[in-house]
Amino acid sequence: MRNYYIAGNWKMHKTRAEAAELAKALAAGLKDGKHKYLVAPSFTLLETVAPIVRGTNIRLGAQNMAEAEEGANTGEVSVLQLKDLGVQTVILGHSERRHNYHEDDALINKKVRLALQHGLEVILCVGELLSDREAGKAETVCETQTVEGLKGVPAADLSRVVIAYEPVWAIGTGKTATPEDADAIHAYIRTVIGKLYGGDEAARIIIQYGGSVKPENAKDLMAKENIDGALVGGAALKVETFTPIAKFA
Ligand code: PEP
Repeated sequence: MRNYYIAGNWKMHKTRAEAAELAKALAAGLKDGKHKYLVAPSFTLLETVAPIVRGTNIRLGAQNMAEAEEGANTGEVSVLQLKDLGVQTVILGHSERRHNYHEDDALINKKVRLALQHGLEVILCVGELLSDREAGKAETVCETQTVEGLKGVPAADLSRVVIAYEPVWAIGTGKTATPEDADAIHAYIRTVIGKLYGGDEAARIIIQYGGSVKPENAKDLMAKENIDGALVGGAALKVETFTPIAKFA
C-alpha cells in the first residue's frame, strides 16, 4: 500500500521572514494531516525553515545540489552542506534545471547517486515538453529520463527514490494534464521501474504528479490508481492553497 506524498517546491521565492511564516503556518495546519509532506525552500532559507519543521510531519527538502561533495564548484551547494542543515530530501532533474540550466541525464544521474550514497531521499523529476507530447514521444522521454537518472542505483537504495512526473507544458502554466493522461504516464513509468527492478519495486515506488496542481484538481488527480501524491509549485507558496492540496479528502 503506497502512502500519498505531497511536496511543495518553493522555487526562488520568499525572504527568511516570509519563509518562516509559511513554514510555521504549514506545521500547524498539517499536524493532523494523514499523508507524507515536504517543503523545499531555496538554499538561503533552509537554516531558517529547518528548526520550524524539525520534529513535525513535514520533511525538509532542497531544490538541487552539486554532483560533487566539495571542491572548486563556484555557486554550487554540496550534499554535505545540505545534510549539515538537516536536509532530508533533494529534488533533482526538475524541468527548470533540465531546460533552463541545461542539466542532462548524465549530470542528474551523478547527483542522484551521490545523494543516495549520503542517505538522502531523492525526488527525481521526469517529464516531456509539449513538442515531445505532440510528436507522440511522452512515454519514451519519460522512460529515458527514468532509466538514465537511475543508472547504477542499486535496488537497496530505491526505497529512497520518488519519481515526480511533471509534463513541462503543465508547469506554472495553469494547464494540468487530465487525471487520465497523467495516470497513463505514471502507469508507464511504473512498468519502466518494473523492468529495471522487478514488480515489487514497481508496485511500491511513489510517483508524484506535478504541473499546476491546485486545491480544485488535487482530489481527482489523487483518485487515480497510479498517482501517489503531488509536487506542487505555485500553490505551495500559500498556506491557503497548499493545505487543502495536502489534506485532499
Ligand atoms: C513544479 O515546479 O514542480 C510545479 C509543478 O509547478 P506548478 O505547480 O506551479 O505548475
